Amino acid sequence: MHYTINFPAGQTDYYLNSSYSQLLQVAPIAHSIIIIDENINRFYGHLFTEYRVLIIESGEEVKTWETIRLLAEKLVQFEAHKTSVLIGIGGGVICDITGFLASIYMRGISFAFVPTTLLAMVDASVGGKNGVNVGFSKNMLGTINQPKFILFDTAFLETLPEQEWSNGFAEIIKYACIGNPHLFEQLAHGTPASFQTKPKSLTLLIDTCVQQKNNIVLADEQEKNLRKTLNFGHTAGHAFETLYHLPHGQAVALGMVVALIASEQTLQLEKDVRQKLLLLLQQYDLPYQLKIDVAKVMQTLKHDKKRNNELVDFILLQSIGEAVIVPLAFDAITAALQAFEDESKS
Ligand code: ADP
Ligand code: ZN
Repeated sequence: MHYTINFPAGQTDYYLNSSYSQLLQVAPIAHSIIIIDENINRFYGHLFTEYRVLIIESGEEVKTWETIRLLAEKLVQFEAHKTSVLIGIGGGVICDITGFLASIYMRGISFAFVPTTLLAMVDASVGGKNGVNVGFSKNMLGTINQPKFILFDTAFLETLPEQEWSNGFAEIIKYACIGNPHLFEQLAHGTPASFQTKPKSLTLLIDTCVQQKNNIVLADEQEKNLRKTLNFGHTAGHAFETLYHLPHGQAVALGMVVALIASEQTLQLEKDVRQKLLLLLQQYDLPYQLKIDVAKVMQTLKHDKKRNNELVDFILLQSIGEAVIVPLAFDAITAALQAFEDESKS
């Protein structure tokens, strides 16, 4: 299936339920430069031998300015120019690096993605936000530019480690919570295996998430309002990720629990919503409790981009599928974290 979306920051062709072999048609060898990490090179390097390929190390640690600088030097050596296209083939890290590098190289050249993790397929490759971390502060340098195309091939997921599947499911549960009660039910009736072993269900699941994110990005590409709801679970989540070195999905899962506690405390959300979320998180091998140092989490959280003086924009739920943006005072966030910590002890 193929469709095109016109965003203010660029036009993107979506090749859903596609096959990697289509790359040769959409990305001419002479103009394309592929960026992958060492794992993709190990599993799939043999597929790209006709192209010029840049290989970086894997992991969130390489999402830095230093990597951008080194890759930019390689692009100069390759004599990459205005008509060159950078193609990121990999997970979220590769998408971020490729999109950001392309956006600033020669004041902007085209880029495209072939996402190879569930997380990158449903989230990182979609929406045009690309950036790198500065120290412990996540995505502090970045751009909003849309890729020229995104090619989805679920065959890449055959080599994906279990841990990475649950990372992807955390973002999928997020979409269900903020805007899709039907998806929430569907996930509740499934398991990771029920999607992993049924390519049709998996493709449908990915399509649903891509559509939901695109609708949000179309309404608010620059994240002035609605797009902020995609940060559900990410405010406390990013702090947990940094402080406790957790994988992104696990941190977001825990962040969603904190957000529901805050929703109970500020919006009187009924407790059974949290119960349903906890069940879902367990079903998809995600954590729901963690021993934390509330003061340290608060300290980290205060460095968040979403901070606005003494308030932090928190995404809360009014019900499953209904998210609201609520600026929370530090006291209110501390109270939610304290309750989360107390319940994690018991
Ligand atoms: P994410 O997509 O979760 O944001 P990364 O880009 O860091 O995160 O990818 C997660 C890890 O999975 C990395 O170590 C990456 O090399 C590896 N990886 C990516 N795609 C695949 C795949 N299809 N098969 C096996 N490993 C993969
Ligand atoms: Zn995320």
